[in-house]
Amino acid sequence: MAHPQEDTLIAKQITPTAMRLLVLDVLQQHPAALSLADVEQLLGHADRITVHRTLKTFTDKGLVHRIEDGSGAVKFALCEPGCTPEQHQDLHVHFFCTRCRETSCLPTVAVPTIPLPGAFQVQETSLVMKGLCERCAVAS
Ligand SMILES: [Zn+2]
Ligand SMILES: [Zn+2]
Repeated sequence: MAHPQEDTLIAKQITPTAMRLLVLDVLQQHPAALSLADVEQLLGHADRITVHRTLKTFTDKGLVHRIEDGSGAVKFALCEPGCTPEQHQDLHVHFFCTRCRETSCLPTVAVPTIPLPGAFQVQETSLVMKGLCERCAVAS
């Protein structure tokens, strides 16, 4: 019987390796977006270059997306099942909580199309909102 996490990788045309399965597991267990340093730390003594390469493969294959939340570190979160390497823009809003400093995907909140003047050509749009996340808002 196949391992469900192996199936997740195979579905994205990623060859399962021990490290890839470990990184996937960490991402699945943490709903908030994780930086390279977070993943490294959660894995114990993982080699940074290997973790970096794994996250790059996942990003290239449409399994995770990168988020620049203004914290200085790029973060990674699992994509919606429909992402592919070609169509790989998770055009949803991200939310950075100023209290717990976690970044969450808001997959149900789409980034609006913003009309640009003149000959500007947009390649990518990201929208990060900041404030208190659900958990912190309830606690305050
Ligand atoms: Zn919070
Ligand atoms: Zn996201």
